Amino acid sequence: MNKYSKRREALLYHAKPTPGKIKVVPTKKYATQRDLSLAYSPGVAEPCLEIAKDVNNVYKYTSKGNLVAVISNGTAVLGLGDIGPEASKPVMEGKALLFKIFADIDVFDIEVGTKDIDAFIETVKNIAPTFGGINLEDIKAPESFEIERRLVEELNIPVMHDDQHGTAIISSAALINALELAEKQPENVKVVVSGAGSAALACANLYLLLGVKTENIIMFDSGGVLSSERTDLSDLQKRYTAGKPGTTLAEAMKNADVFLGLSAGNIVSPEMLLSMAKNPIVFAMANPIPEIDYDLAIATREDIIMATGRSDHPNQVNNVLGFPYIFRGALDVRATKINEAMKMAAVRALAALAKESVPEQVNIAYGETRLNFGKEYIIPKPFDPRLIAVVAPAVAKAAMESGVALNPISDWGKYEEELLD
Ligand code: NAP
Ligand code: MG
Repeated sequence: MNKYSKRREALLYHAKPTPGKIKVVPTKKYATQRDLSLAYSPGVAEPCLEIAKDVNNVYKYTSKGNLVAVISNGTAVLGLGDIGPEASKPVMEGKALLFKIFADIDVFDIEVGTKDIDAFIETVKNIAPTFGGINLEDIKAPESFEIERRLVEELNIPVMHDDQHGTAIISSAALINALELAEKQPENVKVVVSGAGSAALACANLYLLLGVKTENIIMFDSGGVLSSERTDLSDLQKRYTAGKPGTTLAEAMKNADVFLGLSAGNIVSPEMLLSMAKNPIVFAMANPIPEIDYDLAIATREDIIMATGRSDHPNQVNNVLGFPYIFRGALDVRATKINEAMKMAAVRALAALAKESVPEQVNIAYGETRLNFGKEYIIPKPFDPRLIAVVAPAVAKAAMESGVALNPISDWGKYEEELLD
């Protein structure tokens, strides 16, 4: 398909037969006068009074517990930049669609018309009573860091900025499995990170929890290596200043075990790959053009273990493997936040699932004859129906064990059955 017809297809998909990708559907009967008197006045006053007496009853009588807000101000939309709240709406509706089809979570997409941190936070806090959880989306760094930190602190429902943590969680699962295949330990690996933005910092933070050492991480932004001599770094970036001032990317790549790219396309050369240690792990995740082209990288080194953000190559680091099930687990135990323990539980569950034998329907969905744990399959595929029953319970359990679950689950067998329904 050429570029013109692809564009036309995408526009038609969004415009017809109804503009947009989601709608609201009633879940109760509404055929008779009696139904309506229950749905609205006078019957509706009864649950109102129950909730007024005890606010926890809102979970019993309304859709709050299964309703997530996908909220953006349109300042960092996909790779398109600051295109404004209205232009971000197709992305937020798309996220709503994914939440619904993969985890049966309902979403209101909310596009907020402000770039001001305080005004944005105030808006989210004021509408939070409606929702069981908040997915922050496509908000520019560094504002996104403070927005998320303050909302997590001040709200008692799960809040997650998916652009940071989604990528970190999925790539951490990929890293665990890649290290196993490369026969390396996280404590010993030398990691080069290209990019020091939202996604790169969140990934590096989670890699530390896997055991990677801060002093073994050399990070770059468009100004070069992050080092203790740099005076322009944010507090979050200052954690990653193990680089020697003036080190180039090519120098840092020599004998590196892992390259993590969340920066810009085509900045890694075959020579750099060749200089890396044995069994190099290369996650080139700049979208849509990776730091080094997949086919070029594979042709350059036979022993490479490679992942990208793209769906047309093996090992796509795709956030859809995470957010539907992380929120599913968090909502189901009424977690007050999504903490590091819950993120790590999702990481471990995803990594473990990739090692299980793959059901035939997944092979068929991807036109593969046999997906098998190995260099070309280090993370599960999005259409794997086992994801929900594996990741959501892991997250829910971690919420309970870390003391943030208000509504613990006791019958796990029944819960898993419900998830697969
Ligand atoms: P961001 O917050 O804007 O950060 C981009 C970072 O890359 C900044 O630190 C920037 O440095 C740095 N950078 C830009 N050009 C560079 C270069 N030539 N060499 C070294 N560093 C460079 O963006 P983000 O949300 O973290 O996303 C970064 C990239 O990752 C995008 O391409 C995005 O599409 C991709 N991404 C992929 C996935 C996925 O595959 N699942 C998920 C998230 C993001 P300065 O601050 O100096 O400009
Ligand atoms: Mg996003």
